[in-house]
Amino acid sequence: MSDQPRVEIYTKEECPYCEKAKDLFDAKGIEYETYNVTGDDDLFEEMVERSEGRKTAPEVFIDDELVGGWDDTSALDETGELDEKLGIADDTDEEIEHRKLVIAGTGIAGLTAAIYAGRSNNAPLVIEGDEPGGQLTLTTDVANYPGFPEGISGPELVNNMKEQARQFGAELKNGIIESVDASSRPFRIEMSDGDVYTADAVIAASGASARTLGIPGEDELMGYGLSTCATCDGAFFRDEDMLVVGGGDAAMEEATFLTKFADTVYIAHRREEFRAEDYWIDRVMEHVEDGDIEIMKNTEVTEIHGSQEAGVDYVTLVENDKGHPTDRLDDPETDEFEFDVGAVFFAIGHTPNTDYLEGTGVEMDEEGYLRTQGGDGGGQTETDVPGIFGAGDVVDFHYQQAVTAAGMGSKAAIDADEYLEDLERAAASEGEGEGKGASEDEDEEEIAAADD
Ligand code: NDP
Repeated sequence: MSDQPRVEIYTKEECPYCEKAKDLFDAKGIEYETYNVTGDDDLFEEMVERSEGRKTAPEVFIDDELVGGWDDTSALDETGELDEKLGIADDTDEEIEHRKLVIAGTGIAGLTAAIYAGRSNNAPLVIEGDEPGGQLTLTTDVANYPGFPEGISGPELVNNMKEQARQFGAELKNGIIESVDASSRPFRIEMSDGDVYTADAVIAASGASARTLGIPGEDELMGYGLSTCATCDGAFFRDEDMLVVGGGDAAMEEATFLTKFADTVYIAHRREEFRAEDYWIDRVMEHVEDGDIEIMKNTEVTEIHGSQEAGVDYVTLVENDKGHPTDRLDDPETDEFEFDVGAVFFAIGHTPNTDYLEGTGVEMDEEGYLRTQGGDGGGQTETDVPGIFGAGDVVDFHYQQAVTAAGMGSKAAIDADEYLEDLERAAASEGEGEGKGASEDEDEEEIAAADD
């Protein structure tokens, strides 16, 4: 495409969000130039200067104008403005496309559901969402997914699954589901770019997004030394002291990863015991012995200080031996102090992406996780709205493993298939009941024939 605007993407190695940005432009058929800043200080400085001081990859430019990182690019895509900038906006009037099955999410749960649903001839439309590929794309080394004794990178596993899903007839589409209207059937699905679909069944596999703390300095410094993805941004803060917040597996994995770049990695955890598995704690402890990692227990961050020009300067921490110090700010034993670090990484869990299901009647818990039927036998992934199913991290706040998400994805596709077959049977018998009168058409004959 020669008359398209010039798209430039600064990337680095081991950068899942860079891959997401490239995938987005690939899916739109847009050509782009990439500049890999890994190990190239001049290019890195150029990126920082052009992106107004941001030290996070990717950085996307269209016709020399800064779009920003992955979040900015995907936000622009949601509103349709990205297509406008690229000169590919579709100005035609609203067209409503009907699909048998729409799957929200292309993480492990959504893609496994897509593979199964494709094989059941339900031709699923799979919506990528604002984190295509899901959480696993942020993991460099997946060592516990069965069948890969040497391990496999998260992005590779996800890309293999996408290919497998497409082979069975799934269509993957970039986009964000804004809302699902369940007040009539088929469901009406509105996309943030204005597209509308109807669907007989929906599988919600929209996962969960990284949590933040909501503390002063956070909004200003996100992308300027504060990050929720160590594998994406760690290398930009080489030789700095770095702070990881959290006490779960993700915090331990990120801290371990960051030892490759940091002077010292500090882990601030709000209580005495880690939530992480022994495997990760042992690995962290080896680094503690080597002096690469220091652990600050019963400690929380209350403010991040710095500027977009100079990055993170220092943080304010509070500590109390009883744990959860921010709940004990009036306790005289709570110690508040300033602590110099050059980068901060949040690894404090995730919030389920279920906003688009509000108003459908689907039951959720107080954090927004979907409640599904669970238990034994069929229908485990049913929500309390017939035709809407849930799978993966959007339901499961406990196991949260790639392999359990895959298992739930397959169950959701099987449950949806049974539901769709029931619908077809009901439609066929309704047609028969009405006799072969005015409503007779070819579709009904096909359904009735398939039912014999
Ligand atoms: P978790 O929910 O397991 O851990 C979150 C951590 O952040 C907890 O230690 C929690 O503290 C802390 N936290 C939460 N909110 C706050 C807050 N407001 N202030 C301070 N600290 C806070 O999430 P993870 O992302 O670590 O893991 C999610 C799932 O993914 C798990 O099942 C895990 O096993 C899996 N995983 C596996 C990996 C692997 O094996 N390769 C890597 C990463 C994740 P507290 O403990 O006090 O609640």
